[in-house]
Amino acid sequence: MSVLSLARPDIVALKAYEHARWLPELERLHANELPWRTPTDASNAGLNRYPEPQPHALIERLAKLYGVRADQVLVGRGSDEGIDLLTRAFCRPAIDAIVICPPTFGMYAVAAQIQGARVLEVPLDRARGFALDAEGICAALPDSVKLVYVCSPNNPTGNSLAKESIERVLDAAAGRALVVIDEAYAEFAAGPSWAGNLASYPHLVVLRTLSKAHGLAGARVGTVLAAPEIIALLRKIIPPYAMPQLTIEAALEALEPAPTAVAAARIRQLLDGRAALKKALANCDGVTRVWPSDANFLLVEFADTERALAAIQAAKLIVRDVRRQRGLERALRITVGTAEQNARLIAGLA
Ligand SMILES: *Cc1c(COP(=O)(O)O)cnc(C)c1O
Repeated sequence: MSVLSLARPDIVALKAYEHARWLPELERLHANELPWRTPTDASNAGLNRYPEPQPHALIERLAKLYGVRADQVLVGRGSDEGIDLLTRAFCRPAIDAIVICPPTFGMYAVAAQIQGARVLEVPLDRARGFALDAEGICAALPDSVKLVYVCSPNNPTGNSLAKESIERVLDAAAGRALVVIDEAYAEFAAGPSWAGNLASYPHLVVLRTLSKAHGLAGARVGTVLAAPEIIALLRKIIPPYAMPQLTIEAALEALEPAPTAVAAARIRQLLDGRAALKKALANCDGVTRVWPSDANFLLVEFADTERALAAIQAAKLIVRDVRRQRGLERALRITVGTAEQNARLIAGLA
């Protein structure tokens, strides 16, 4: 059975918009573009031209970076666009549902609500270090569930989810739902990417992003890695010129060997900073718990969170208040910064 039987039938049947053909060897009089650049345009390709719809050089580069084939890659404006496209392609309004495991990243539920899909919650198990409740998910897979989101390392708790638990979910969801593993923070974790398992699971989708470890949050480059038939379906519904030319060029340049080596060195630097910050926070008065992290942030609990927030703000720093999330009533999510910022944070809390 094809995994496309899980998708919305009207999207499977949809005829995609036919954008102007991409034939760089010919001069373009087919897209109603101006033939001249604006005087301030320093781009390589010219901002007077529409960008290449799925830019093949960037897709090749991302496929290599993530160890997959180009036909397993969709590039969009951040993982957020991937989440949006998956929701729209697989969830029928008022009929279908997604599963999320709170506390987790908010965009899964928001995208579902925009689409009119229901959101089923199977919370992470705080008592086991925010572990995935694989049994709970397997028991909560009615036919209406089309997407199961698993965020690993998870935002905002920071922990990676156990391989065996994710495998159980993948086995239970086979032929029934897609399992979407969001690896936004994978570069900060030790384990391998689930992208290496795409061949074994036709219903596995992996989300990667250049926003975090590659330092390109402002460029908006996210990648969906999945079976070619899923990628082809998403390509039908992504806006025809989704990726801005400036973003394509910035990402290609950042993925050259020299800047990639800088990114790798900074990940190591950040991991050292994370360990030092974790230790310093654990020694702070008023800190009741620092959770283990495989990401570039720490989930920290306080005896008096309101007071900690005020102290952090007085040190001219802002951290994420996650107290409204399930099970995190005393917690703040603190991004690991420079050594100077980390020291200022600790001094502010002291
Ligand atoms: C930051 C983050 C992303 C990245 O989103 P982009 O749209 O690629 O910037 C995705 N998932 C999670 C869990 C995140 O925390």
